[in-house]
Amino acid sequence: MKPWMKNVRQVEPYVPGEQPKAFDVTKLNTNENPYPPAPGVIEAFQSIQADALRRYPDPSCSILTEALAKFYHVGADQVFVGVGSDDVLAMAFQTFFNSEKPILFPDISYAFYPVWAELFGIPYEKQPLDEEFRLVKEDYCKPNGGIVFPNPNAPTSILEPVSFVEEIVSRNPESVVIVDEAYIDFGGESALPLVDRYDNLLIVQTFSKSRSLAGMRIGFCIGSPELIQALQSVKYSFNSYTMNEAALVLGAEALKDETYFRETLKKIVDTRAEAVKRLQTLGFTGPAPMGNFLFVTHEKIPARTLFTDLRKENIFVRYFDKPRIDNYLRITVGTPEEMERLYQFLENYSKEKR
Ligand code: PMP
Repeated sequence: MKPWMKNVRQVEPYVPGEQPKAFDVTKLNTNENPYPPAPGVIEAFQSIQADALRRYPDPSCSILTEALAKFYHVGADQVFVGVGSDDVLAMAFQTFFNSEKPILFPDISYAFYPVWAELFGIPYEKQPLDEEFRLVKEDYCKPNGGIVFPNPNAPTSILEPVSFVEEIVSRNPESVVIVDEAYIDFGGESALPLVDRYDNLLIVQTFSKSRSLAGMRIGFCIGSPELIQALQSVKYSFNSYTMNEAALVLGAEALKDETYFRETLKKIVDTRAEAVKRLQTLGFTGPAPMGNFLFVTHEKIPARTLFTDLRKENIFVRYFDKPRIDNYLRITVGTPEEMERLYQFLENYSKEKR
């Protein structure tokens, strides 16, 4: 070991889904939106001036913050934006999880939570999902230093009702409760209206999924002005210019076209319903999906084998080699054509395996 190595921080990083370079890949592995961003976003992208890029962006991110405040009918002082919701969540972990008591999150959930907790030295305790992969409310009603969970959960795609969120928030007045609503737009009811009644609730969302802008890295959260002020202070102690000019302009633009937004969501929700049926006939089962992805297991073929064989065909899905879920695949809802390619492969494949 080199002498300076003892001073190097040792962390086990989050492993993102693969971004293959090949063109003929059916990419159903990272929950991206298969449709392009709204036409106005593309136009705005093409008209960004060189001069706007020469300058530092607005550190207060006001065009995007104000557009979000208008869209969600909240005050601009209730909105905080960042470089994807990963950035917003990481900032929120640093800002709100400073207790000696452990923070709580589900054992099967977004794999970044334990990574941030380790990185920032936050004590944590994973709470096991029940046999049906549901969150157990009582597990989040014991002494804690903060709570975070996705709703719908990932990778299970299971949605809990707003009443479930409210009960957890109301029973934890001494903690900040972060609800990661990355996938809420695909048919779920957001807990956003609760922020007016609970100043310890932070709702985090993203433009990566429902607004087709994963490549731009735009995330945001909405909460009480006190929570937002605390986040701003941490952000300005870290990096004043988190968001670039293009992301600010394009994010604001994306919010203008609600018709396109709703149409795109409907297409994905319809394709998802069809996928549930088709996969069922092919021998798969899984929880009712409420995100833009399905979480399924096959009656006969091990998930790992399927994952490897799909990959050979250039069909990418996500496989997690983790306890309890190592016989499941997470499949992003693509276009009907992409899904057809998946069904066709699976049909021939299960015939061969019979
Ligand atoms: N939360 C959950 C539950 C996710 O699955 C993801 C996507 N990996 C994110 C947050 C982060 O998404 P982004 O940084 O693209 O907004």
